[in-house]
Amino acid sequence: MQFKELASYFDLIEKTSSRLDMTKILAELLEKADEESIKKIVFLCQGRLGANYEKLEFGLGEKMVIEAIAKATGFTKKEIEKKFREKGDLGLVAEEFCSQKKQSALFSTELTVKKVFENLIKISQVEGTGSKELKLKLMAELFNSASGTESRFIARIPLENLRLGIGDPTIMDALAANLLDEGKQNAEWKKEIEKEMKEKKIKEKNWIDEFDRKMKLKLRERIEEKYNIYSDLGAISEILKVKRLNGLKEIQIQLGIPIRPTLAERLNSPEEIIKKLGKCAVESKYDGFRIQCHKEGKKVWIYSRQSENMTSMFPDIVKALKEEIKTEKVILEGEAIAFNELTGNFLSFQLTIQRKRKYGIEDKAKEFPLKLFVFDLMFLEGKNFMEKPFLERRKKLNEIIGKGKTISLTKTITTDKAEKLEEFFEESISKGLEGIIAKDLNAKYIAGKRKFAWIKLKRSYKGELNDSIDGVIIGYYTGKGKRTEFGLGALLTAVYSEKEDVFKSVAKIGTGLTDKNLAELEKILKKISSKKKPARVQSELEPDFWVEPKYVIEIRADEITKSPVHLAAKREGKGLALRFPRLISIRTDKKPEEATNETELKKMFAQQKQINEENQEQNY
Ligand code: ATP
Repeated sequence: MQFKELASYFDLIEKTSSRLDMTKILAELLEKADEESIKKIVFLCQGRLGANYEKLEFGLGEKMVIEAIAKATGFTKKEIEKKFREKGDLGLVAEEFCSQKKQSALFSTELTVKKVFENLIKISQVEGTGSKELKLKLMAELFNSASGTESRFIARIPLENLRLGIGDPTIMDALAANLLDEGKQNAEWKKEIEKEMKEKKIKEKNWIDEFDRKMKLKLRERIEEKYNIYSDLGAISEILKVKRLNGLKEIQIQLGIPIRPTLAERLNSPEEIIKKLGKCAVESKYDGFRIQCHKEGKKVWIYSRQSENMTSMFPDIVKALKEEIKTEKVILEGEAIAFNELTGNFLSFQLTIQRKRKYGIEDKAKEFPLKLFVFDLMFLEGKNFMEKPFLERRKKLNEIIGKGKTISLTKTITTDKAEKLEEFFEESISKGLEGIIAKDLNAKYIAGKRKFAWIKLKRSYKGELNDSIDGVIIGYYTGKGKRTEFGLGALLTAVYSEKEDVFKSVAKIGTGLTDKNLAELEKILKKISSKKKPARVQSELEPDFWVEPKYVIEIRADEITKSPVHLAAKREGKGLALRFPRLISIRTDKKPEEATNETELKKMFAQQKQINEENQEQNY
């Protein structure tokens, strides 16, 4: 496919704010894309050059993009920098200068998606001496052949600032829409949908539209199920392009490709947990970080909760996986936590997290050795274990994991008594752990979903919500008084609407920010700030600067209240908001789409109401 065609689709998408229209345009683009380009196009839509778990580092800042524009167009760096100060978006600046190049483009050729992608890949891969010049040359080569619109997107990709407003759910919806006709050939799905519609007494005039909508939803679910076990939407799109719907069957768990993690629901008390699960396993909730370990013979991969490859960061865990686990092929999951070898005590999350680093790895590994507490098994010797009940998975884990120096199983009990659960909870807390996670003995491993297969119960703090909220930063306010020094005074944050694939405002946070936090945050937010509201953001409050939804922060608050100004879970003119929100930490282990979502927020609000009512009854 010609890059010109892709750029004109990107242009259309950028101008569209309705998610429905965006999905239609994207579906048309993906249907038109040829087999050679589809994967690349999907990656570019995600603002990436590879699957989620593959590293992406362009090592190309604004300065170099400016230099490349100058080189290709004949305008001076000064002229380009001036325009950049005016427009604040190098994409628009590249567009303006590249559409009026001063020098005739000698070696100009028609750009294909393949060519642009290949140059960008090279830019991200070159290292060492002379790499700066080579990156510059590759970028200038693209600008040299690009039209104005093409240049806008070429400039934005390496700056990781594409601004299309397309999230993974929208890509999956578009892929599903393109499979509609084949979905309709599936007699079983057709029967299921028709039955549902009859039960709901859908009117005849709405029948076809509703049927198509439900079929697309079904297809989207099937695609998402595969994406949850195979974190590569580009590869999935390619398989669907070549083999259409039948291709879905071929997508299976693969060693080296991360599975999206299962997530825990919340309940308020041991009694509620037992009522919901009956007899269940109860495990300590360790406050470290979650890792997914893949092992195939001598090869080991370690992935974070967000599916980033972190293998090189944890040489101690890699070694332990090779030495302490005697199986050839396995995928398992656990919590890694730093501990003091002398006292045998766990260290705080703040110390554990210091192990996530690019440099000084060996030294820190000596200072803060990790222990891995394994809690789940997804794959063993060629067999998918995700479909098996938890009890069976745990039994198998017992067979393959002994009490190693580094790797052991999570501490667990099985009970159907609330008192026993509470006792175990108190014991975990007294050891400095976060609480417990109760697990349904019969549940499968549900990748990428927050279901009642796992229920967490955390220590609650007086006068606070019993769990923190993970909010996405969508804007910031400049500081007043002492804080002007940092240019950042408060943050505007949002929760994720999984239904609409947008971010809705939930809290403005001014406290909890230390001067160090402020300086750090300002530096990273400035890079993605703009005066224009980003496509996927919904907020009636207007911050001084908007930012692309990218960073997740952990927030504690006193309670969730109804609010006329915030838009999260809005009903009858009122949204939900956080009262007295305070920033706790920046959650580098979560993507914006993994932040607290609207459904969770509504549930937490309902639970809080229930607790308040119970407390009132008790006081009465
Ligand atoms: P939180 O902020 O409460 O850690 P989260 O959003 O990161 O929540 P949840 O699904 O809500 O993730 O809680 C489960 C997390 O608890 C897991 O991701 C894992 O990192 C951690 N954890 C600690 N101990 C266990 C355990 N025994 N079993 C499962 N998860 C555990």
